[in-house]
Amino acid sequence: MKIICVGRNYAAHAHELGNEVPEEPVIFMKPKNALLQNHIPFFYPEFTNELHYECELVLRINKNGKYIGEKEAASYYSEITVGIDFTARDIQNKLKEKGLPWEKAKAFDNSAAIGKFINVASINNKNDINFKFYQNSVLKQQGNSAHMIYSFDELISHISHYFSLNIGDLIFTGTPAGVGECVAGDMLEALIGDELLLRMEIK
Ligand code: ZN
Repeated sequence: MKIICVGRNYAAHAHELGNEVPEEPVIFMKPKNALLQNHIPFFYPEFTNELHYECELVLRINKNGKYIGEKEAASYYSEITVGIDFTARDIQNKLKEKGLPWEKAKAFDNSAAIGKFINVASINNKNDINFKFYQNSVLKQQGNSAHMIYSFDELISHISHYFSLNIGDLIFTGTPAGVGECVAGDMLEALIGDELLLRMEIK
């Protein structure tokens, strides 16, 4: 199982971090150990002083594939949830400055939290999925899949030309504007539509 993440997939978020809108999807990965298991508490990592939340729609791959065409891509996922791509922004900024890889900032243990999955089929229009992220009951991020630069199907097709996709792989499809810092004691909640799918505390 692997976790594939998409960077800068919402123009407003690319701009808020001073990045350009990409000409092709920006892809990075997190290892299996990055997945926060349900029964494990999330502890604020000791190596950062600027932990950011990035709330994203997350797809689960349900079929093995490679070189998947955009038209077939929809048959490779049937479940969706919201997740948090935790980012050590201070470390990422240093690495970016030097042109170095991002893994220490993005792929550390427990840096990928996911909510309860729901069926994509239960959603009216997958190109119009509203999702929201609350920090201590304050709305911080609000996204809609309609605003993604690359759609789910375009992402699956693109990714599968480089990396074989396997059952159980997760795809974090990028975060909308509004990313920010979180601290120990924060309660984080994320919803698709009005359905609360993820609720976790930073210890
Ligand atoms: Zn992200």
